[in-house]
Amino acid sequence: MSFIKSFELRVKREVERLLSKRERIMVAVSGGKDSATILYLLSKWGYNVIAVIIDLGFKHYKKHVSNVRVLCEELGVELFVVDAVKEVGSVRRLQLINGKSNCYTCGVIKRWLLNRKAKELRVDKLVTGHNLDDYAESVLMNVLMNNHQACLSLGPVAGVISSDLFVQRVKPLSYISEGDILTYAKLKGFRISYDPCPYSSDAFRREVMDLMRLSGFNFSNIVKYFERLKPLIVSKFSRKGLLRECVICGEASKGVVCKACQLIGRSH
Ligand code: AMP
Ligand code: ZN
Repeated sequence: MSFIKSFELRVKREVERLLSKRERIMVAVSGGKDSATILYLLSKWGYNVIAVIIDLGFKHYKKHVSNVRVLCEELGVELFVVDAVKEVGSVRRLQLINGKSNCYTCGVIKRWLLNRKAKELRVDKLVTGHNLDDYAESVLMNVLMNNHQACLSLGPVAGVISSDLFVQRVKPLSYISEGDILTYAKLKGFRISYDPCPYSSDAFRREVMDLMRLSGFNFSNIVKYFERLKPLIVSKFSRKGLLRECVICGEASKGVVCKACQLIGRSH
């Protein structure tokens, strides 16, 4: 069987387990290979998809947004562009002033904007392009930081809580390696950016990934080990009951004010 066929079969198996054609699905697209691949495949297989990109306002993002526009036009998928600067002010400024890593700040803002958009557009599921390498890396990071709470949102179906405050996040590429996705995206000739984010160089995440790649860690084994333990972690540490509405924005929050509002510095 050709690489393309076997790749698509592997993705299809997971997609069919996680998604139904009756659902309205929002794909979060970044202009990178992973989200382009899953958007392309869901659209090709006849799923009811729309796409959303958060325009972070960074210089290099103009190209991402224009590439995503072209991809969505080619696929006939409706695209919504969320202007992060309009919503929260300069994300770069937030990165520079709050003392957290750039990726942390960017991640919190993206998840916040994506969840709000998903609720506004009344979708059933929110799909992201996270792959096996991302998954294994997150598991290892949480081990290194002794962060069992963060483990709860890892895996193909994020989160353990079903709540009106959250649109369920689904990651159908969780068991597909970044290398395979890269090969597929190149064979398909997607017009996408292959450059890493210029602002992610300070991230702990990057150091963990370098270690994992240099040491030749088996990513599948890390994930399999984690998935055997996850039910125990969920039953012991589930956050059910700990979530409430942020008093400022109304989004889900563990504290009185959610992480995004803390970063943005909104006061009530
Ligand atoms: P990253 O955290 O950059 O590795 O991205 C992981 C996934 O999050 C991507 O595959 C996308 O599905 C989604 N994503 C990342 N950045 C954006 C963005 N600017 N707009 C919409 N979705 C994004
Ligand atoms: Zn808030």
